[in-house]
Amino acid sequence: MARYTGPVCRLCRRERMKLFLKGDRCFKEKCAIERRNYPPGQHGTRRGRRIQGYGLQLREKQKVKRIYGVLERQFRLYFKNADRQKGITGENLLAMLERRLDNVVYSLGFAASRAQARQLVRHGHVHANGRKVTIPSYQVRVNDQIVIREASRKNEFVRASVETARGRGVPEWLELDPENFAGKVLRLPVREDIKLPIQEQLIVELYSR
Ligand code: SF4
Repeated sequence: MARYTGPVCRLCRRERMKLFLKGDRCFKEKCAIERRNYPPGQHGTRRGRRIQGYGLQLREKQKVKRIYGVLERQFRLYFKNADRQKGITGENLLAMLERRLDNVVYSLGFAASRAQARQLVRHGHVHANGRKVTIPSYQVRVNDQIVIREASRKNEFVRASVETARGRGVPEWLELDPENFAGKVLRLPVREDIKLPIQEQLIVELYSR
């Protein structure tokens, strides 16, 4: 099967729902799904063959990887760990992805997209519990304090992101202190906290083949 290499916006069109991968753009008229809500390509408007079985499972996995910006190798490791943990594997997997530092920075509204959040973390703008953390995959824990470094708060890029994200709301498992560019992990995320249109069971089925 050919590897999907197109811009991520095509992914929303393929799924026919907004996945909010492009930050500011997602809230403007430029959003590809607002303009053309049908799958990309020459045959996008044709009534297509229903994808089933393996194809469907594979597509779900690729979608989740794209949303969280995780590559195959790391995704497999997440799955392995999720499988080892108690509870439902698919839910464990999503919880681990949610607990990534880049996702938390995005969810707190310090970045307009997960990709931007990853860049903020990599460039050292984010502190976790008073220490600089530059690893986007860092897993946050209960009571962790996530703060935008003081020197970075005046950064135009950060301010613009915070402005864009205002009104998006913060998940219940996190607490935001917008004045101090700070957030706190109140509890670990559960399935109900994840509002993304994901059928994690399909991913479990794929890896269990
Ligand atoms: Fe999806 Fe955002 Fe692109 Fe719209 S602009 S299609 S929501 S990634």
